[in-house]
Amino acid sequence: MTASLVLQLAPIGPLADRLLREELGAVALWEQEAGWLAQNGARVGLLATSVRRGCDAAMIEALPQLRAISSWGVGHDTLDVEAAHARGIAVANTPDVLDDCVADLAWGLLIAAARRIPAGDRYVRAGEWTTLGGFPLTTRVSGKRLGILGLGRIGNAIARRGQGFDMQIRYNGRSPKDVAYGFEPSLTALAAWSDFLVVACGGGPQTHHLVSAEVLAALGPRGILVNIGRGSVVDQEALIAALDSGALGGAGLDVLQGEPGAPAALSRHDQVVISPHVGSATIETREAMEQLTVDNLHAFLRDGRMLTPIPPIH
Ligand code: NAP
Repeated sequence: MTASLVLQLAPIGPLADRLLREELGAVALWEQEAGWLAQNGARVGLLATSVRRGCDAAMIEALPQLRAISSWGVGHDTLDVEAAHARGIAVANTPDVLDDCVADLAWGLLIAAARRIPAGDRYVRAGEWTTLGGFPLTTRVSGKRLGILGLGRIGNAIARRGQGFDMQIRYNGRSPKDVAYGFEPSLTALAAWSDFLVVACGGGPQTHHLVSAEVLAALGPRGILVNIGRGSVVDQEALIAALDSGALGGAGLDVLQGEPGAPAALSRHDQVVISPHVGSATIETREAMEQLTVDNLHAFLRDGRMLTPIPPIH
């Protein structure tokens, strides 16, 4: 008999948690007694999780009848997609619905870092506008050069917004795309060309520390780094060293190594703007992501195929 029990590994959000329970009768693992998995693992056919909680090979192994995993979030660095696919288990994430909000935030960070909006706000609140006078000059955004690492769904949404700011746009990734923006096969060369370098690729071993000391040096003392991808893509020690020495102009970061929290060596820099990993964190987008997590499981039960499956890695 096909196992049909839906297991939810961790809370996802109020909407998904409610729909999973009410519409799919999902069992919340965190509410069960220790030993539940060992006793009931063979009854589980579908799994709901999130990029925060993930799903490793050990969990997949503990569920011998598992057929589908629906994960909230677009990153899949915490999901063992390969182990799932090796067993013929379908895996889906929640792409597309968050592109605009993450791209909006990338632009918010870019402009905030270039025009030093948070530093200006601190200046006003500390009364320095009155006592010291005008704020120092900042960096122009419009008409400048925008480099994007990872021209995927979110990278493209960032590039489209860049056109509205009359930017010249180039990108780096594993392969050139069929787009009007120039492909730069060397990330260091892209950084050297760019005024702003935006990281929009995912995490994991393949992208680990792609933004190295060399890339940061190429971006230069007037260059600004924006990261809305994953903290692991940037060599954070090298970033701190580049900011300390003035080799890099500034940074806008939504994701950090070792998050949550930021090391003081990074946050003490006035030319760094940090947001607490909130790229997709609007009411509208989070609701759409939660709905898609549930819809993927409904689609699998109905058609044997989820709406937004992660394709196999070749
Ligand atoms: P996507 O459509 O799959 O795009 C990923 C891009 O990364 C692709 O263009 C890919 O280029 C590039 N890439 C992958 N591996 C690479 C490598 N080794 N070297 C260089 N480029 C590489 O994914 P997406 O939906 O745009 O999401 C991208 C990432 O954003 C997610 O994985 C997640 O980590 C992050 N994210 C962050 C937030 C936030 O709150 N800050 C929210 C959502 C997502 P090629 O095709 O050329 O390989």
